[in-house]
Amino acid sequence: MRGPRAAAAGDHVCGGAACRLVFSRRGQMDESAFRHYLQTQVRLRHGVAEMVRRQQALREADEREHEAVWAAAQAHLGAAADGALRLVVPSGPRRRAPLAQRRLERYRQHLQEVAAAAAATTATALPEQAPQDQPAAATPLEGRLCGLCGGGCCTMGGDRAYVTADTMRRVMRLHPQWSAADVVQAYLDRVAPRTERHSCINHGDGGCTLPRELRSDTCNDFACAALSTLQQQADGAARRQPVIVIRRRLGQWTRASHGADNRITAIALLTEEGARRLPLALAAAPAALRDEGGA
Ligand code: SF4
Ligand code: SF4
Repeated sequence: MRGPRAAAAGDHVCGGAACRLVFSRRGQMDESAFRHYLQTQVRLRHGVAEMVRRQQALREADEREHEAVWAAAQAHLGAAADGALRLVVPSGPRRRAPLAQRRLERYRQHLQEVAAAAAATTATALPEQAPQDQPAAATPLEGRLCGLCGGGCCTMGGDRAYVTADTMRRVMRLHPQWSAADVVQAYLDRVAPRTERHSCINHGDGGCTLPRELRSDTCNDFACAALSTLQQQADGAARRQPVIVIRRRLGQWTRASHGADNRITAIALLTEEGARRLPLALAAAPAALRDEGGA
């Protein structure tokens, strides 16, 4: 018999580091306490293994669906999609509401703290601009990709927006004439009256309300898998080939939630010139519809 009881009797079934760790506790407990501990550990590990198995199955099902949708979109578009890159993006939240005063106050307090910390060090440091102080702008295609997604990676920004003393130092080097109070005000001036309820305080109607030079390094440097693939494929040059993008319903940080509704909510063709939405029916279309010509 394989199981906790048999194992407690000395049947060391695994030999891995986790298993050795569990068995290392044996000398610290009597037989019945150790058996109970062992059964709990086995249940926990089975639970984790089951979760991993389900996640894997979910990922594989999603990948099969992506392949079918990309193929349907390719057939629908014909030559317009020749050589298209295929990407999947998450979704940003879509629940804007008037900005709550308490959010603004928390943000103000955070900004004042990090600006004071930055001013204390820049007073003794040379306020020279470093080449990386001016963050690179997104290409039009990158902007369209993030626009279609709607800021799926911004939901953890909260009322701090990842702004740190390092961010402030960079801004102060770019604007040496600004006092710490001016810097704080520059951020506050850019908060929109309506913001996404479950996202960063700077997540407004048209996306991020901060210019890149005021955003944190975290914001400027982050690229989800889709954006990262696009950047690598473009390799610094404007990408001429189109991109077929599937957008899923959940955000970047919630998309692995088991059992959550993560259906496809948009399919689009992005090019250097513009964005074109494709019929959502392609996600579940019969072969006849998929074989239709361009819209
Ligand atoms: S980086 Fe990715 S997750 Fe973030 S807004 Fe752009 S496409 Fe969405
Ligand atoms: S500051 Fe802008 S880019 Fe950064 S998390 Fe907030 S909304 Fe997103």
